[in-house]
Amino acid sequence: MKTKLGLLYGGKSAEHQVSLQTALAVIRALDLEKFEIHPIYINTEGKWIKGPQLSEPVENVKSLEFSAGNQLSPLSLAPALFQAEKQETLDVIFPLLHGPNGEDGTVQGLLELLNLPYVGNGVLASAAGMDKVMMKNVFAQAGLAQVNYVAFIKSEWEKAKAEAYSKVETELGYPCFVKPANLGSSVGISKCTNRAELEAAFAEAFQFDRKVIIEEGVVAREIEVAVLGNDEPECSVAGEIVPKKDFYDYKAKYESGDTALIIPADITDEEYAQLNEMAIKAFKALDCSGLVRADFFLTKDGKALINEVNTMPGFTPFSMFPLLWKHTGLEYPQLIERLVSLAKERHAEKQ
Ligand code: ADP
Ligand code: MG
Ligand code: MG
Repeated sequence: MKTKLGLLYGGKSAEHQVSLQTALAVIRALDLEKFEIHPIYINTEGKWIKGPQLSEPVENVKSLEFSAGNQLSPLSLAPALFQAEKQETLDVIFPLLHGPNGEDGTVQGLLELLNLPYVGNGVLASAAGMDKVMMKNVFAQAGLAQVNYVAFIKSEWEKAKAEAYSKVETELGYPCFVKPANLGSSVGISKCTNRAELEAAFAEAFQFDRKVIIEEGVVAREIEVAVLGNDEPECSVAGEIVPKKDFYDYKAKYESGDTALIIPADITDEEYAQLNEMAIKAFKALDCSGLVRADFFLTKDGKALINEVNTMPGFTPFSMFPLLWKHTGLEYPQLIERLVSLAKERHAEKQ
């Protein structure tokens, strides 16, 4: 029996286009002897569109994002949306979504309510992983080394801006990084080296979120590790990101191709052991399942600081997460199959 796999892709976030590329790549990689693919597209307005059932690869897929299908709103349609032909329920849903309303536990909550198995992290890990303040609080509690940080909500800042700035200056100093708490892809993030930049950075970050986090800036290499599994997660080899610009911003990530990925990263065995241990610890601290990409700063003296985990990391065949597994011995199609089995296992345990 083929697995009826629902691919949920697109979405309202800044990573819409990336998600389309990912969906195409996943469809191309899937073995059609094993899977029946059911695309479910979320357009940029947040409308959910159930695509035609795909019996053939690629050719039909291109029209996917435009094929009208049934336009529905996620709430009224939920039961109908996740049905295959003849009203059969899909076996597993793969949310290929990044950022708010996709990677943050909301879609995961919908899938939980529908009692559908889905790939990746559950509600708690997704939500905590999307909010950088929550995530860092959990990491601190788990004893993971990280940069110092402070956080403000918009109303606190509006009431006492000068106090907010001086708190940043006394507790963190310059350079510091100001970030919206709940985004990804470097959107709304600024590096500040003085008060004027700090003021502008707060205003910028609060355009995207009601909560911001400010972190001490570090000079360090950026090393990433991919984690896969449920209760007994495993780590890939490490990879290094070398941004050509000052930091790894949105353009460097998605537009310019200006960033080199070096896999495996040129680090010592001790450094790798440290990253491996911290990545697993972070995975467990957030109660993750399925997959996570753990991102680190590695300082000159070989000390690792965890920067963040991404609960739905970039997943095109050229993204760090799949490349790290490829170098560890797991090719893209097998990686997808493994994620689907992990989803089924986790669901079976809950029943
Ligand atoms: P996102 O979730 O959007 O990827 P990150 O927290 O990873 O946000 O920040 C994006 C990039 O900004 C990082 O990859 C790094 O290049 C730079 N950066 C972020 N925080 C710091 C920091 N505290 N010190 C130095 N560089 C940082
Ligand atoms: Mg992130
Ligand atoms: Mg990041």
